[in-house]
Amino acid sequence: MVHATERKVVDVVLVGGGHAHVHVMRAFGMQPDPAVRLTLIARDLETPYSGMLPGHVAGLYDRDDIHIDLQQLARATNTRLIHAEAVGLDRAAKRVLLQGRAPIAYDVVSLDTGIVPPADAIPGAAEHALAVKPIGSFLARFDALRARCAAPDGPRRIAMIGGGAGGVELLLSVRTRLRDEARIAGLDPEAFAFTLVTGGSLLAGHNRAVRAAFGRVLGDAGVTVHDRRVASVHADRLTLDDGTAVPCDAALLVTGAAPPAWFRTTGLDLDTGGFIAVTPTLQSTNDADVFAVGDCASMTGSPREKAGVFAVRQGPPLARNLLARARGEDLSPYRPQASHLALISTGTRYAIASRGALKLESAWLWRLKDVIDQRFMAMYRDIQPMPMPPMPVDDDMRCGGCAAKVGPAPLANALERLSGAAPREDAAIIPVPSDRRSLVQTVDFFRDFIGDPFVFGQVAANHALNDVFAMGGTPHHALAIVTVPPGRASGTAETLFQVLAGAKSCFDTEGVQLAGGHSGEGAQLACGFSVTGFVEVDRALRKSGLQAGDALILTRPLGTGILFAADMRARARARWIEAALTEMCTSNRAAMQALLDHGATAATDVSGFGLIGHLAEMLSASGMAATLDAAAVPLYAGVSDLAAQGFASTLLPDNLANEGFVAGVLPDALKAILFDPQTAGGLLAGVPADRAESCVAALHAAGIVHAAIIGRAEAGMPRVRLALRQAQHEAV
Ligand SMILES: Cc1cc2nc3c(=O)[nH]c(=O)nc-3n(C[C@H](O)[C@H](O)[C@H](O)COP(=O)(O)OP(=O)(O)OC[C@H]3O[C@@H](n4cnc5c(N)ncnc54)[C@H](O)[C@@H]3O)c2cc1C
Repeated sequence: MVHATERKVVDVVLVGGGHAHVHVMRAFGMQPDPAVRLTLIARDLETPYSGMLPGHVAGLYDRDDIHIDLQQLARATNTRLIHAEAVGLDRAAKRVLLQGRAPIAYDVVSLDTGIVPPADAIPGAAEHALAVKPIGSFLARFDALRARCAAPDGPRRIAMIGGGAGGVELLLSVRTRLRDEARIAGLDPEAFAFTLVTGGSLLAGHNRAVRAAFGRVLGDAGVTVHDRRVASVHADRLTLDDGTAVPCDAALLVTGAAPPAWFRTTGLDLDTGGFIAVTPTLQSTNDADVFAVGDCASMTGSPREKAGVFAVRQGPPLARNLLARARGEDLSPYRPQASHLALISTGTRYAIASRGALKLESAWLWRLKDVIDQRFMAMYRDIQPMPMPPMPVDDDMRCGGCAAKVGPAPLANALERLSGAAPREDAAIIPVPSDRRSLVQTVDFFRDFIGDPFVFGQVAANHALNDVFAMGGTPHHALAIVTVPPGRASGTAETLFQVLAGAKSCFDTEGVQLAGGHSGEGAQLACGFSVTGFVEVDRALRKSGLQAGDALILTRPLGTGILFAADMRARARARWIEAALTEMCTSNRAAMQALLDHGATAATDVSGFGLIGHLAEMLSASGMAATLDAAAVPLYAGVSDLAAQGFASTLLPDNLANEGFVAGVLPDALKAILFDPQTAGGLLAGVPADRAESCVAALHAAGIVHAAIIGRAEAGMPRVRLALRQAQHEAV
């Protein structure tokens, strides 16, 4: 066998954070192969565990109890996480096509994307029914339904379309929740009417005793059962195939399964239902580098129902076979079990067991189900970061100086792939305007802390533009500098392309030309830009213009240093990182414009020195003091908690060199926040007090919803006095 460090790095890409893929992440993380890089492409960063969904709907579990946080799992297992939706495979070029961004290269790819509701299977269902898949959007819409049902004149007639285990369990759970909440709100729970339409047979596939038990449970719960098919769904009723009208105010849909439409464009063999046909080794029957598992796959010769239990069981053989394929070793077949034990809850802490001819029921079975489900979730939650092996390189006697460039082709190729033409000259020629405008120039550079090179490129580009916006300028062009860790040539070229593609997506939106750049090898992926812009000199914003009485406005929440410090330790929640990255990938141009329109006297962007560090620069330059209202400072979600737990950036001690600017003693957590270094941070500006409120209103109207007045400038020695009130305001 070839020793790991002597082999090329193989890119194994997982599409979809389904039940089998979370196991692959854990297995690869626990036994890392330095020559295999694992990437997960996930549309949703919090992946629901369907076994606990009915319990959550019934109010027995919190939202976090039933979700696996893919951000934390990816960090802990050293999986590269790409938050994007796959929309196709280019199998000739071996790339996964993504919605709205550059494709991702693979050597071996695995699909575990689950199913989608069957499109147009029932006329009107798409408009009027609440489909349970995908579960993420179902939960949001179910919460909205709950809110409407809590009103005295809200929906009362609830119908479920689908009489399988999922539909029955979910309807009983919905019933429990809506009735409980009605009781709490002082409404009559008996006013609700629940209907189940089974499509012809209740719990098909389960034995007679199980069907009878659920018939009894549904009867006791007062659920009306129609053993018919739904012909059409309307805003106020279902029409059954015998013409019966079933009045309903809200319909839920748990029927059938359809594959994602893009499977049809892949050229992969599909079964008659459109699911990916796979061999017992879980490989596509016509492409050995494509694997598929879970609901989206169909095993030729061993078809099984679409159930999470099969996706879970496929995890270990999938992990083994992906690794074997990456290493060029033999694969082993997987034989799914013929039947499985189903523990189906009754919407309460009570369950009915079904397997073959077996039927049992008791509260004890619900507790067993709970233990099994919790044990599954525990494998993927709060796990400690696993050690990362060093990546192998093609040659460890690598040259420095200009010989450490990433070869001549990758940069030119990346720019050509992005712009349609490779740069031909040694330097960019930029026409300079002949009017009164002056150049503004800036440069920024830092190493990757995100893991997704495309998003890193976007953040780095936005960060670099911020200095120009802070001056009230208009960025014009940028030059890139990128270092990529040495490795397989095609891998470094692809990473370089991803970084520049992300940056260019940001520059294109801003009308900024990416005029060229330089790339080299470095220990880590790092990227920066020299940005040149123009500014009308008499409109330029400087740090020195603050006037006594000016309101201090901050346009973006604080806390990126704390969040990503926690993220490195797999302790930041996916939704916190997602929300912060959304802001960090958003331009400050509109913020700058609103500040200029409201007579801003001074501005700076909040970056590495933290809020106090940059405020101190303004105060020193302007010869002013300031009072800061700590409670008004907007924070990213999660930052207060993480700061209280002691998470802080490694740069914090350096930033605290400015602590002397603050009068009095700060609590540690607040100190970590106010001195937290920001990447792609907001603008901090002085605005005349009489225009500050309308400035904030204009910022909010422009979508800069966290902008806030955080203090005021005052005559005096450059110092910051803190007005401490109640807890910090945290962005949601
Ligand atoms: C109400 C209900 C209760 C159920 N209870 C049970 C039960 O108790 N036991 C059981 O065995 N089964 C149960 N099931 C069935 C179960 O939900 C599925 O069989 C199971 O979720 C399939 O797992 P999977 O890994 O194939 O896909 P999923 O769990 O659906 O995961 C797919 C993942 O892929 C992501 N994704 C989708 N498309 C893309 C894309 N284009 N790009 C990137 N990412 C993408 C999604 O965000 C998701 O995270 C239940 C189903 C329902 C509706």
